[in-house]
Amino acid sequence: MFLRELLAPVSGIKGAGPASEALLAAAGIGSIGALLSYYPRDYEDRSVIVPLSGWRRGPVCTTATVTAHDWIGFGAMRTLKAHIEDSGERACLLCFNRPFLKNVLPVGGRVRIWGRFFYKYGELQASVFETDTEGGKKFGGILPVYPLSAGLSQGLLRKLCKNALAQYGQCIEDEVPAPVARSEALLHKAQALGILHFPPSMDDLEKARNTLIFEELFYLETVVGKRAMERKNHGNSTPSKTGAQNTGLQKRLIERLPFELTGGQLRTLAEINGDFDSPYPMARLLQGDVGSGKTLVAFLAALAVIEGGGQAALMAPTELLARQHAENAARLLEPLGIKPAYLAGNIKAAGRRELLKALASGEINLVLGTHALFSADVQYHNLRLAVIDEQHRFGVIQRQKILDKGKTGVNKNQIPHLLMMSATPIPRTLALTVFGDLDVSVIPDMPKGRKPVETHLAKESNAQKVYDFVKKELDAGRQAYFVYPLIGDDEESEPAGDEGKKITGAVQMAEKLEREIFPSYQSALLHSRIPDEEKRRVMAQFQSGATHILAATSVVEVGVDVPNASCMVIHHAERFGLSALHQLRGRVGRGGSQAYCFLVYSENGLSESALERLKAIKQNSSGFVIAEEDLKIRGPGLIAGIEQSGYLKLGIADPIRDSDALLRAREAAFAMLENDPALLRAEHRCVAAVLERAPPFVY
Ligand code: ADP
Ligand code: MG
Repeated sequence: MFLRELLAPVSGIKGAGPASEALLAAAGIGSIGALLSYYPRDYEDRSVIVPLSGWRRGPVCTTATVTAHDWIGFGAMRTLKAHIEDSGERACLLCFNRPFLKNVLPVGGRVRIWGRFFYKYGELQASVFETDTEGGKKFGGILPVYPLSAGLSQGLLRKLCKNALAQYGQCIEDEVPAPVARSEALLHKAQALGILHFPPSMDDLEKARNTLIFEELFYLETVVGKRAMERKNHGNSTPSKTGAQNTGLQKRLIERLPFELTGGQLRTLAEINGDFDSPYPMARLLQGDVGSGKTLVAFLAALAVIEGGGQAALMAPTELLARQHAENAARLLEPLGIKPAYLAGNIKAAGRRELLKALASGEINLVLGTHALFSADVQYHNLRLAVIDEQHRFGVIQRQKILDKGKTGVNKNQIPHLLMMSATPIPRTLALTVFGDLDVSVIPDMPKGRKPVETHLAKESNAQKVYDFVKKELDAGRQAYFVYPLIGDDEESEPAGDEGKKITGAVQMAEKLEREIFPSYQSALLHSRIPDEEKRRVMAQFQSGATHILAATSVVEVGVDVPNASCMVIHHAERFGLSALHQLRGRVGRGGSQAYCFLVYSENGLSESALERLKAIKQNSSGFVIAEEDLKIRGPGLIAGIEQSGYLKLGIADPIRDSDALLRAREAAFAMLENDPALLRAEHRCVAAVLERAPPFVY
């Protein structure tokens, strides 16, 4: 059977009683299969004997002669201190609560020791150690080190894994199809598992890891490949239009714009129109840096669908952003006869009922909103396009839910076109994994006349200079954002790890900005706990220029678009992540004039990596480059997009580190699916097993 089919309870393992069963259950290990998939996080190499004189750091296996016994403390608390020596190098072993070791470590005896040595008071010592006779085999070999949670011990996990492998190892089947396993020179699954838990040597370990890594990636790409093929085979979407040419409504919108579309926008639009023209639903990821004009492309896409008699929905992660999209849609599209509407969770009963009726009847043909767009009571007449803005903020399930709304209308079988937009570029290898079944468009260029935002670092003690500069911009009729990491009202407690230093929040600073720093200008405050009505008023006033200064938290991070704002001052900039800083900076420089971003940071407690982040932002203006920097500083595990994929629970593989294996796995998986159509119906046991844990068919 397959490893995941080993569902027998752990109590079936020799040496596992009810107590250990409960401990394992608490750690989420409910079966023998789950126990064997609980991979070590590290290893302790006890196979090599290192002389004491060669000790550098950490745990080590060594041999030495016991030279003397000392006793420290007295009575029942007496602790044995055994002095050892090897080739003139001395150390001592502190035997807390183990007085019996005086017999195991007799003076003059030669012993083998595995211990965690460290220097204390100029003496090399260990209190955590195990002993054996010289040449003994008690703790030779390479031992697994498992991630531990409450109550679990290395000893218990080692014992149970060892016994589980002995009892059940023989019946674990290979999963990767034999031809692929052969060409990749993979080990047998059972063998790889055995080695991974108890490697005979570091070289063997490498081979076992490679086998299991490849298997995981092969699975992943099988799922990705199957979904891609199913989408292409799902031919229920009648072409909305003919040719990749722009439609009448698209042309009319483009003519009305006071600017020209960029090359990237034009190309992307042609790609989208091409998708509408093909017989299967679009699934496209649109990547473009902050401010590259993705929203407009989304509107143009919506126009094509509406012209063909369908409806379009544009979903954004925050109400602030959704509302702004709705306002832009009203401004740009109403003159073309489109009926846009805004739908969010806080729309009151009566208004909401009306709105839902108009959506269900098809009277409204473009709806913009938040998660509310896929609430249970929302019905569409003929939803043909779902646009997901800032897609990295949504999960697979939410994506699926909005697509399912295609079936609530006249065509029960309908899968809408899907356009996902993101300013957080995804490294290529990830695009192949998480989004491997999507087509990708990129807008590489910025609208004409945009100048890169001038970015400066400023110490907190120099903040006054920043204010002086901002004052000049305000005097010239421009507007400014001041952003803080915290709201700073009483409800909020300081995040941990702050060394007790108080930081100023948006609330106090808004007051200070208004009263002391810029008394002749209007300022306003915006954060997540301000009531929605008030939020809307504040944004409208800032948008219209009635207020000049907006003090805010990172709520303004996504989407907010006020072209007249030329200054972005970020206080405690060291507390923000790279992509947040980049997004915040992207709020300015949206008009034709030069814009400025000031990263104000406090020097005390400034970590190395925080300084690196600030420098990276100062030196780079491209979101694509910054995303790569982010990867270097933070490592791949934290990249937005990995966790959110839902099914991408990789235990041992890392798509970035293992990108070579990923590409080979992809090729093998796709070839397998193409050569054997039966696999698509999941008649093959391997694929069936894969699809068991895959999410439902999305496209
Ligand atoms: P993002 O890609 O970050 O979502 P937006 O869609 O918010 O960017 O666009 C940023 C601003 O640029 C908006 O004010 C929009 O009207 C404007 N814009 C979009 N396309 C162009 C263009 N081709 N030329 C000039 N300005 C443009
Ligand atoms: Mg946007």
